[in-house]
Amino acid sequence: MSEKWTKGPWIVDFDLCDEEGPLDVPEVNGRILDQDNCVVCQASTEVNVFLIAAAPEMYEALKAIEWIKEKDGEPAFCPICRHYVHGGHSNECKLGAALKKSQR
Ligand SMILES: [Zn+2]
Repeated sequence: MSEKWTKGPWIVDFDLCDEEGPLDVPEVNGRILDQDNCVVCQASTEVNVFLIAAAPEMYEALKAIEWIKEKDGEPAFCPICRHYVHGGHSNECKLGAALKKSQR
């Protein structure tokens, strides 16, 4: 695997803030930690903290379903845009776009 980000799973750690945020969700001093309790990143909205912390597992899940085969010997294809692996995802494919966004 060529990904160079901090190995997951990531852990959520946060304190609730006393102030109300602009969104209808709890504002927090949120930290996403790695397995060594080092801060991977911070977020100020509770829901964003949980979403970011799930990134490693979501990435692995997307990679697991990115290219599927219906039969042995046939080329793999994307279950979303139905393009074959050798041609890559369509420009509109959300699965391809999400995986591309995760890597620079
Ligand atoms: Zn696709």
